[in-house]
Amino acid sequence: MDGMMQIFLLNFLFLLFFLLFIPILIDQIHLPDKWKTGLKILSFSIAIISCISIPIKVEGGFILDLRLVATIIGGIYGGIPASIVLWLTNISYRSLFGGEGVETTVVLATVHMIFFVFLFPKLKKLTKTEKLLIGTVTGYFSSIFTIAYITIFYSPTVPFVVSITLILLQTTAVAIIIYFQELMGEMTIMKNEILRTEKMEIVSQLASSISHEVRNPLTVVKGFLQLMRDSNLPPEKRNEFLKISISELDRANSIIGDYLAFAKPSQERQENLCINVELEKTVEVITPLANMNSVTVKVHSISEELFIKGEKQLLQQCLLNITKNCIEAMPKGGELTLGITRNDNDILLHISDTGVGMSEEQLKKIGEPYFSTKGEAGTGLGMMTSLRIIQSMGGSLKITSQENKGTNFELCFPIVKK
Ligand code: ADP
Ligand code: MG
Repeated sequence: MDGMMQIFLLNFLFLLFFLLFIPILIDQIHLPDKWKTGLKILSFSIAIISCISIPIKVEGGFILDLRLVATIIGGIYGGIPASIVLWLTNISYRSLFGGEGVETTVVLATVHMIFFVFLFPKLKKLTKTEKLLIGTVTGYFSSIFTIAYITIFYSPTVPFVVSITLILLQTTAVAIIIYFQELMGEMTIMKNEILRTEKMEIVSQLASSISHEVRNPLTVVKGFLQLMRDSNLPPEKRNEFLKISISELDRANSIIGDYLAFAKPSQERQENLCINVELEKTVEVITPLANMNSVTVKVHSISEELFIKGEKQLLQQCLLNITKNCIEAMPKGGELTLGITRNDNDILLHISDTGVGMSEEQLKKIGEPYFSTKGEAGTGLGMMTSLRIIQSMGGSLKITSQENKGTNFELCFPIVKK
């Protein structure tokens, strides 16, 4: 009897593995739905084959195992194609072993298949509890039916303990698998919901910062247009106002463009960026602001030309946000250092200041939308944007800081070949 228990438990293990574990894994990979369903049906079939391969042999050539659990789970989750494929698998594989049980298999498998083909359209709408109930009841009756069929049509040779074990394990296996399948389904729905809210939040943040930044140039343009109403305005003034208005409109346009580019990373604008060139550009843009704040800028570049993949504008936006923060952290002046080093696969971009630094608590919050210690002057969007850009480029950001000593940003990007 010990041997029988072991075989049943082995069957049980096969079922958990091929009906639960593998389908969950399949759900995690990125594949078209059709492929996923196909792979799951394959896994269900392997469950049936495993169970039939290691069965309990009852007198008269009967093979008892837990394969019907796979039929039931396949019927509930795999739809009509699964029911048909599993029916075929069951019959053809069982036939290889011969014996009286082949006929029984054909009858039982066909009954199950027909049952699920008709039931499936109604199954989809059921709740978790209802599915659990239907599954368990089906599991129970299907084991009773199996034993009864063998007993009535052949000789009554199924031992009592075997029958009880079959009923118990088959029902439990179905219940456990349905329970966890449903749980995983709920978790996926929850995960998507969280992702969706997060996305909505980003969109609303973007919207607020776009409207803020676009409003300024628009206000300027409106002012000039009002001035130009004056018919006595000399033509050269008029021309100048027009020129300013157009350049302001261009600015508004490029802000919108930048943010939209950020909201939806485009594969086309991705190019190989020479990090040395990009760093130089940042230094060029940031130096006037640094000078105004008595900050000296030091650069430690690298002689080797190194490339990373990304969008030029976004990388610039990211570096500007970080360097601007550094300068703002040194209200009494100081030193801004930018440097490049490399290891085997990555470029490390070091940006450090000798400013006010951050407490551990502030450090933890950095990159959170709207986290700012600058009151009215801050938006708390700069670091969030930078972080997202770095992540979109497959990079990472490490920040270390000491209060009243300064802050160190280390950006790490994978090196690409030119
Ligand atoms: P903002 O600059 O508008 O406040 P950011 O997202 O750019 O928003 O920065 C968020 C916060 O992170 C800042 O308010 C500041 O407290 C902190 N921070 C960022 N960079 C530095 C830095 N280099 N030194 C000290 N604090 C910094
Ligand atoms: Mg900032």
